[in-house]
Amino acid sequence: MPCKNCKEKPVIQLPNNPRKLCKTHFIRYFEKKALYTIKKFSLIAKNDKIIIALSGGKDSTSLLYLMNELSKKTRLFLLEAILIDEGIKGYRDKTKKDALAFCKKANIKLNIFSYKQEFGMTLDQMIRRIPQKPCTICGVFRRYLLNKYSRKLGFNKLATGHNLDDEAQSILMNQFRRNNAASARLGPITGMLESKSFIKRIKPFYLLTEKETAAYSFLKGFPITFTECPYALQGYRWDVRIWLNNIESKYPGTKHSIITSFLETLPLLKAHYKASAKLNSCTTCKEPTSKNICQACVLLKELKHV
Ligand code: SF4
Repeated sequence: MPCKNCKEKPVIQLPNNPRKLCKTHFIRYFEKKALYTIKKFSLIAKNDKIIIALSGGKDSTSLLYLMNELSKKTRLFLLEAILIDEGIKGYRDKTKKDALAFCKKANIKLNIFSYKQEFGMTLDQMIRRIPQKPCTICGVFRRYLLNKYSRKLGFNKLATGHNLDDEAQSILMNQFRRNNAASARLGPITGMLESKSFIKRIKPFYLLTEKETAAYSFLKGFPITFTECPYALQGYRWDVRIWLNNIESKYPGTKHSIITSFLETLPLLKAHYKASAKLNSCTTCKEPTSKNICQACVLLKELKHV
């Protein structure tokens, strides 16, 4: 069967949909959906200063490309990229190279910060010191650095390449762990409290699946090494991802249903948890935290005392 919109050979069948599209119409569909997401959830405002969290992988590279095109076309907002180098041998060094090559070609300023430079050791070294899982340590420090340096560089929004699959996994992980407060912080635009110290995160790929972002980056020919982090298999997210993919292949549309029903309940969740949400300043590093000492400082103390 040819493309739904022309006679060209199709390259993809849309998820949860019998339609097949050729390269040109898929790229058009993908970009339109990202723009629709930006408009529907009011992710961008005039004069925003947006920094893109770039890993060098398919999602963030596609996002940076799209946002850069949009910024040039509309002149609505300013844009740069930020990359956090955790120090994962054989993985981040490769994706960092891809990110540098992409930004150089597109003439986008790339700001790089590393665990080694900031905390004195790489993630590879950290996981040999304390028993926590790599993704737990990695997530805490990455969020910390992204927020700290996005703010210090003068940006008011941080755009991430999170897609529909990532969000569906996070929703389920929070459900399985009975952590509704964490789910209240999810959504296409994160955060519950307005604060200059906490940079809002936006997710323009919120309604696009992992399969779609992979196809888009491949068809656009972005210089990407399709590689997985060696620690990914040890994370809880990995098991949820495999499980959810199995359910999706048996019951197509499951992931979309999770997102649609979550969006219906999200305003209630936010309203419920907003009342008890606190934003303090960490007594050690002064970064924003809901506690007295932020998670990064707690982990760092542990790492330095072994
Ligand atoms: Fe970090 Fe885990 Fe992602 Fe690897 S898979 S980059 S350890 S969060």
